[in-house]
Amino acid sequence: MFIGHYGPAVWDTQRGGGKPLIKLWEAFLAVQAMDLFCGALIMFGIEGTRLTDNGAPVFDIPWSHSLLSSVVIAVIAGLVYKVFRPQSGRREFWVIAILAFSHWLLDLIVHRPDLALYPGGETLLGFGLWDLPWVAFVLEAGLLAGAFLFWQKVTKAKNKKYDYAIWGLFLLMAVAHFAVIVFQGLQVQNGTYDHTAQPPTMALGLSMLLAFALFAFLISRIERGRPSKFSD
Ligand SMILES: [Zn+2]
Repeated sequence: MFIGHYGPAVWDTQRGGGKPLIKLWEAFLAVQAMDLFCGALIMFGIEGTRLTDNGAPVFDIPWSHSLLSSVVIAVIAGLVYKVFRPQSGRREFWVIAILAFSHWLLDLIVHRPDLALYPGGETLLGFGLWDLPWVAFVLEAGLLAGAFLFWQKVTKAKNKKYDYAIWGLFLLMAVAHFAVIVFQGLQVQNGTYDHTAQPPTMALGLSMLLAFALFAFLISRIERGRPSKFSD
């Protein structure tokens, strides 16, 4: 899953109508913590795609995407947050950790079986919704659109620009998603992807990290113009 991961990111923005515990851009990074780690591993060729015994390419992501890894990454994400926000407490830690873990649950829905229980484990999980590409695309775009709609409702734009900006970002993310998933990721999943034509791993991993950084940066800009409706 790619843009659908951002769906849960708005969860904290107005819990109980109070002040959000964490910034939305921080939530944007938390929900992608597993893929940030994955991107770094892809850069150095540690993770990527591999061919199964019957020649079909699948994702090879034992370190970043096993169930055990997802728990460890969630805890690390919470601790990293604590380092950068020393004044934060236990509640912020849990918000970050739960958002980071949500990544695994959403990946479980769409991935073909390539999610291990622990690194190197033989049992591979994944319900494979990517086999129905348009259903998967609508689900992911829907998760993001739903999140942005919710966020639009619980915040107040300083001016109209910050309303358009949300949906401009939505379009950008949906197009990026379409380009990655429909033309490449799905081909990996359904076996039509030309394994040998893959861009260098350094470029691939780096482009992942840059995309996540760009989305977090853009939402941080928009966030400045959309204070909470409930806080003073
Ligand atoms: Zn992932």
